[in-house]
Amino acid sequence: MNNINEYLIHESNFPAFEEKVEKLNKKAIKLNFPAITFEILETVVNIDEKTKRAENFFKIILNGESPKLNGWKFIARLETIKEQKHNLVFVIPNENIPLAYRESGSQCQHCNSKRYRKYTYVLMNENGEYKQVGSSCLKDFLGHTDPHNYAKYLEWMEQLTVCAKEGETVDRGSISSHDCKYELDYFVYYVAEYIKQTGYFLSKSKAEQLERSSTGDLVWNEMFNRMMKQNDKIVQSISDESIELANKAIEWAKELGNKEKLNDYQHNLYLSCMTNLVDYRSKGIVASLITAYQYDLELIKKKEVEKQEKSSSQYFGTIGEREIFTLTVVKKSHIESYYGSSILHVFEDENGNIATWFSSNKEFEEGETVTIKATVKEHKEYRDQKQTILTRCTEVKKSKKVS
Ligand SMILES: [Zn+2]
Repeated sequence: MNNINEYLIHESNFPAFEEKVEKLNKKAIKLNFPAITFEILETVVNIDEKTKRAENFFKIILNGESPKLNGWKFIARLETIKEQKHNLVFVIPNENIPLAYRESGSQCQHCNSKRYRKYTYVLMNENGEYKQVGSSCLKDFLGHTDPHNYAKYLEWMEQLTVCAKEGETVDRGSISSHDCKYELDYFVYYVAEYIKQTGYFLSKSKAEQLERSSTGDLVWNEMFNRMMKQNDKIVQSISDESIELANKAIEWAKELGNKEKLNDYQHNLYLSCMTNLVDYRSKGIVASLITAYQYDLELIKKKEVEKQEKSSSQYFGTIGEREIFTLTVVKKSHIESYYGSSILHVFEDENGNIATWFSSNKEFEEGETVTIKATVKEHKEYRDQKQTILTRCTEVKKSKKVS
């Protein structure tokens, strides 16, 4: 069971609560009373199962110590229900009173009268002794001219606990789309499905350029409208395929943190995903997660292929010998240097083995397959690729272009 001084205040009600504490503390300081404080114990995120909307609650504990007057302090205010002896009990946070005071009626243990009073107070001294005292006897009992200010402290604490208690409930009709937060997973599922059904992703900048709405905004609005039970939407249900894609993408984003070098985009994406929530501000970047993940997959695949191609190249020919080879020109580039311009040919033989040749005047065309006589100058590895370096290439026979 929760401590009775603990409250779960909804984020939308929190500013009002803080304001109240501040206001009462101004009064407390004026009277030299101890300040009323609260501690935030934790932030509790509640996710609505239906709408996937997340709400933050602040779990707080209220602290207040009643000021002492001649060795006594105000512990509780009792409100007696007329014609009965039952009392409504308000006890200051962090204190307790004997349960008997729930049924003690409006008695005054100072003058021992039992007449009806609406309010009585329970005071406690340093020895832990309790006394229920009527409002009009406070002055006499405490030997102080103005004990009612002290009693007020109780009232303030009571107001504050009412405020905290009210803060636990939310008026959901007044929620604006800007204040919403949604569960990250569900939002990304939604984006994945949206892209699947519409066939495209529009980033914020691209959308602005086209004067259209971005995918992030469209999904956000659909989720908000779904919550508000408006039915105009593209996504009716989310496929397993989209969920799987989204889950992989989320996992990928969270693992970005293990990478050494992240660009700003990746860093922001990583941070946005780590909270497991999407808000109005982060919806754009989180919506881009699916395409970013797919792009990264493509990149990895491309690198894999390149690496495989590179690693499959073997040396050929005998160094120092002049031999005949049939090779295809895969790339040709003009290189300018101090010594003049030359043409670098990159060849590939039918087994995917790579050769290079620097020519000063002669050149072959890209895509052309040629049979040449050449001297094998060197076998050399360049960027993980085994390359055969040729010199003095002369064409023996020209064959057709390879398509
Ligand atoms: Zn009395």
